[in-house]
Amino acid sequence: MSTPQLILKQRAELLAVLCGGGSAEPLDCVLDLLLAWEVLVWEDYLSIQVAEKALNYKVRQLLDVVYDKGEDACSCLLAAMNQVLPEEQKAGLCFGEECAVVGKNRPDTATLTLLADRPVLVRKLRDNIDGALNVLLTTDCFTIKDCDVVQLPVYTPSQQVRRLLDQVRFKGETAAKTLLQFLEQTETTRPNPEDKENHPSANCMLYQKKLRSSVAAQSHTLSTYGGTGHFSLDDIYTDGLLEVMDGSGETTTLGLEDVVGPVGTLNDDADTFLVSGEAGSGKSTLLQRLHLLWAREALLTNIFLLFPFSCRKLNAEHRELSLKELLFLHCCWPDRGQDEGTLMKGVMKVVTSRPQAVGPSLKRYLRKEVLLKGFSPGGIDCFVKKHHSDPAMARRVIESLQANSVLLSLCHIPVFCWIVTKCHQELLGSQDGIPQTITDVYLLVLQHFFQRKSYQPQGVLGKAWLEEHLDTVLKLGQLALESLEASCYVFSGYELQRIGLTEQDVSMGFLIYCNDLSVTDCKRYEFLHITLQCFFAAFYLVLNRNSDRSAIYRLFQPKNKQLSGLSQRCLGHCIDSSVEGVKSHVTETPNLQITAQFVSGLLSQRHHNLLQECCPTAVRERKAKQVVKSLSKGMQRHFKSIPRPVEGEKKSMHAMPSFVWLIKCIYEMQDSSIAQDTMAKLDVEHLKLTYCNIGPVECTALAYVLKYLRNPVGLQLDNNSVGDVGVEQLLPCLHICHSLYLRNNNISDEGIRKLLEKGMKCERFQKIALFNNNLTDACTQHFAWLLKSKQNFLSLRLGNNNITSQGAEQLAEGLSSNQSLQFLGLWGNKIGDRGAEALADALRNSTTLIWLSLVDNGVGSAGASALAKLISQSKTLEELWLNKNCISREGVECLIEALKMNSSVKEVWLRGNNLSPEEEEELSKQESRLTF
Ligand code: ADP
Repeated sequence: MSTPQLILKQRAELLAVLCGGGSAEPLDCVLDLLLAWEVLVWEDYLSIQVAEKALNYKVRQLLDVVYDKGEDACSCLLAAMNQVLPEEQKAGLCFGEECAVVGKNRPDTATLTLLADRPVLVRKLRDNIDGALNVLLTTDCFTIKDCDVVQLPVYTPSQQVRRLLDQVRFKGETAAKTLLQFLEQTETTRPNPEDKENHPSANCMLYQKKLRSSVAAQSHTLSTYGGTGHFSLDDIYTDGLLEVMDGSGETTTLGLEDVVGPVGTLNDDADTFLVSGEAGSGKSTLLQRLHLLWAREALLTNIFLLFPFSCRKLNAEHRELSLKELLFLHCCWPDRGQDEGTLMKGVMKVVTSRPQAVGPSLKRYLRKEVLLKGFSPGGIDCFVKKHHSDPAMARRVIESLQANSVLLSLCHIPVFCWIVTKCHQELLGSQDGIPQTITDVYLLVLQHFFQRKSYQPQGVLGKAWLEEHLDTVLKLGQLALESLEASCYVFSGYELQRIGLTEQDVSMGFLIYCNDLSVTDCKRYEFLHITLQCFFAAFYLVLNRNSDRSAIYRLFQPKNKQLSGLSQRCLGHCIDSSVEGVKSHVTETPNLQITAQFVSGLLSQRHHNLLQECCPTAVRERKAKQVVKSLSKGMQRHFKSIPRPVEGEKKSMHAMPSFVWLIKCIYEMQDSSIAQDTMAKLDVEHLKLTYCNIGPVECTALAYVLKYLRNPVGLQLDNNSVGDVGVEQLLPCLHICHSLYLRNNNISDEGIRKLLEKGMKCERFQKIALFNNNLTDACTQHFAWLLKSKQNFLSLRLGNNNITSQGAEQLAEGLSSNQSLQFLGLWGNKIGDRGAEALADALRNSTTLIWLSLVDNGVGSAGASALAKLISQSKTLEELWLNKNCISREGVECLIEALKMNSSVKEVWLRGNNLSPEEEEELSKQESRLTF
């Protein structure tokens, strides 16, 4: 086949490879060669490089020009492409027979030399543009303006060199000669690479400076405030709750500076730090803050270079990139010394993802995992105050949140907090009631954005506002859904055009320009936040009349074994596919789950009025039925997985993460009959939801659904982030809980006050475990009331809190009039002798107490002798735990005396007290029930 035919036949493929990654570099390199080989003359070049034209126009133009020139030119073009393109991109392309580019005589003018040597000159000058410009300026060949034209920051260094060469050519022979002389001189004075010291070279330091200023510029504002110009990150950044878990499951709270610090390290050999958190919990913002502080040399000062990447944006990169291209193209291009530096030596990676996205096989490679749990209650106040410069307005918003605990619980997730704060006007003036669900919150933001662009006065968005903007919503919805299905989060202008999105649609503000430093020719867009993309996708599923009938079913039961986050394409190569079952182009499950939540919310009866003009009632009802059926089926699957109880044990269910998701979908529907029907089929005595990322939002949904359980249940929520607000959200289901386990959940006295106020009235409520929360003496009076008024309460565990002797005295007051408590745990508080005496005194008359733990409480011999009196009188006590106290021989002797009169006690634990090994041996001989 002749070469023109080859070009014609492969036109689409050639176009694709030359435009593929959106970078103009491959085309520019081909043009350099064709100019050097005299295949193109200057006029051809100008007809191709038209400034305002898009890259694909330029490539087409090149193909046309060369095609018209015939066989030889076409051969040269193919040869040039063969030379420029990386091996991987040449696969499948045919470049014809090898073409010998005939060596021409050396040109006789400097201007022509610049053309003939153009490919080499681009490489040589890239590291020395400043020097060349300086010479041209001092020899009056260039003006300042010429220099500015060359150095426009939108150009990559290679593009700047080409601009410089073009400008020199335009200036004429003298300028060209000056430039060639300069190059000759720099060649002879080029430093020997062997001379390089081990410390960073001047080039590296210059690059660090440039990178710092690029990163600072990039991280200065938050994308959700983009365009408004009101806030910098400094103005609005509010610390989130950060925790790290050690190997044994103990958690520690962290500051921003500890994210890459030593606390919580699990694997010293690994170099990857993971920050995990739910969508909208502030992961990207946290990284942005780290970037900004690094750029200002305020944090991470031992990190020499820092490269910010977005995996979502990298997924949109279709070309294979070298490491150098990856770092330079996507972050910041060095002006010189591009080949220096062993960049990957001592590298450290900080990665963010959703909690379930990182499976065990990837976790092995983590140095540590930091959990980001959103805002604390104090954080919410702080955020609102930062957002509203008018303190009166901030106060009103805070008051309205405090008056409405469901909304307050939503605000623990920063992205919801941002919406609620942003839409305060709609919120404070709302006639449709206060938002209850995340769908309500996102409808609020939708109204807010449309209102902003509406010509009507503030606050007046016609009743039919959705119908008015339906076209925009559907187009955004189509873009959102199609791209979610393809795990795509960054869109080119072409994709927007394909769907028919206009400038006006874009100006509504739901889409923003991609905020990164990559050097590409085309603008790229993304949704303001991934959750907003899910919301629009949900709208499309609900409103699109042409969608296939099984779309909703598919959403609720994703078929593929799906992977998400880290393991998706961007890092997909790093994972052993046999372990994780990697499939390419699978949609991220967590995003589909969020979409499903919005679909449930939009199809709720409550939004019937809003949707009625946009979607026929019959269609809406059919879809709503499909959702209900899917939810019910999903729950059934869970219930079926409950194992038969082992004899002597309770029938218990350990919830999978998708259980919480299904519950949240049911909550979005706000239909009690659905909740009731679903729960009627659940028959367990114990429901275990430990380590399930349950925060206040999840508590609201759990209580809404669990309150319909037929039989009482033990609800185990240990190791989540329930907090005081979450506790308040759980109250509606407290009547069905016989036990509540809330170990390690950031609960304080205020949460306990509310919990016990309700608990006192719940007949079935009998056990509570609150190990490792933030409780102080201020909560003990509430427990005292509970103990006094509830004579069927069985178990109170308050270990690892901050209760002192005062708290113990208060508790004792309640205990003295209680005749039901069997278990009392106060391990790891500070009750001391006084507290132990008060408790022992109060419990002396107890006819129910079986188990008492005062481990690690600063109890000495005085306390022990008071406990001895309890032992001598008790007929029920079986175990007494007194490890890690300061009891000496004298105290133990009192205990031994008392045990002589007691037959119920089986064990008294005394490890780690003030006794010598000899004393321990001697005393244990006297009483075998003592354990040292
Ligand atoms: P994620 O990456 O976890 O999905 P983002 O960091 O994108 O969450 O947060 C979503 C939005 O929530 C941000 O654009 C910002 O408006 C708000 N936000 C998140 N974290 C903070 C923070 N620490 N301070 C102030 N606002 C925050």
